[in-house]
Amino acid sequence: MSEPIPGPGAVGRVIPTPWQCPECGGPWLRNYVFRHTPNQCTILQREDATQAADAQRLASISRYTRPATAAEVLLLKHLAGPAAAADEDPQTVVSGSPALRHRVINEFDPDKHTI
Ligand SMILES: [Zn+2]
Repeated sequence: MSEPIPGPGAVGRVIPTPWQCPECGGPWLRNYVFRHTPNQCTILQREDATQAADAQRLASISRYTRPATAAEVLLLKHLAGPAAAADEDPQTVVSGSPALRHRVINEFDPDKHTI
């Protein structure tokens, strides 16, 4: 396993885990995935649309970078702090497969975050 690479906002910070969805309060599961409350969370709706688009692209390529979505920036700020999303052009590195997507936004990977 590789060493954790903290995002710019995570350096020296103590972030309590598990996290909760900033909108519906659903528990954090892994990466940028939360167990959202169905039909009551707009983050879930936005993330579903992104998941579908990423799954389609991951069927032909295993890793790529794209601009972060507004929902991803919101989650990044929630998990890593506002400084982590201070860039004007935040980027998401998407990897994995259509069935199991992994995202690193502005170099912040919640799975590798250490307290
Ligand atoms: Zn939610």
